[in-house]
Amino acid sequence: MFHNENAELHVNVTNTEQSVRDKHDSRTVIGVDVNEDNVALTALSESVVEDTLVIDFPEINFERYRYFTIRKRVQNAGKESIHDTLKGREERFVRDRLHKVSRHIVEWSQQFEKPCVVFEDLKEMYDSIDYGTRMNRRLYHLPFRAFQYYTSYKASFEGIPTAWINLEYTCQRCPVCGHTERANRNKKRFKCRSCSHQDHSDRSVSVNIAVKGIKKHQDWNMLALNSLPQVRKVRRRASGAVDAPTATHSSVRDDRDPSRGVASRTVGVSD
Ligand SMILES: [Zn+2]
Repeated sequence: MFHNENAELHVNVTNTEQSVRDKHDSRTVIGVDVNEDNVALTALSESVVEDTLVIDFPEINFERYRYFTIRKRVQNAGKESIHDTLKGREERFVRDRLHKVSRHIVEWSQQFEKPCVVFEDLKEMYDSIDYGTRMNRRLYHLPFRAFQYYTSYKASFEGIPTAWINLEYTCQRCPVCGHTERANRNKKRFKCRSCSHQDHSDRSVSVNIAVKGIKKHQDWNMLALNSLPQVRKVRRRASGAVDAPTATHSSVRDDRDPSRGVASRTVGVSD
């Protein structure tokens, strides 16, 4: 505190970063793929995919669409002040839901040994000419960067480091053979044109993000991934849906049935 060259560092470090582990000293890298209706998480330890979780949050888009139609109605009726009130209410709803999802991500990550959470650096989208419609959709819909920062901030409070990688080709690259081609991806389905590997496309992205995070920050010998675990899904419900079955993270794990292969299973989660 009294050394001049460290004064500024101390101010930044005291509250949030002091206890955050060095990201280079990680045993598990968590790739986080953020989309408008879900977030796909894959935990990768040294050349083994430990687990994949897809958290669906359809209620966010449902509510946004509801607000959108109401706002259009009041706007057409010339009631601008009500329009602004609704806009603020919608934004608070979306941020509240995204905070809950980000908490879920951090809790899930904590089960792994020395995790590091890795995101795509969405800043690069602003500088790029064209990353295709997927990126444009992502850019203009949900506040993705804010969501990444909520997650990063919560992770740092648990001592978990975060890292950012270049987003280029993460949605086109085959996580098994590495073949990269735009045609590998068709909406939510991924099928490699070279090795025929098939998968949930958002999970493929999350694996590729984790692989990039390892190459960038870890000193591991990456071997080829020859098998990926089943994609498990949880669907978030609006709070107050008390009749919905709830699942804690541990019981979700217990629901896993390896014999289901790549088929996925959806479990409801409420707050
Ligand atoms: Zn392939």
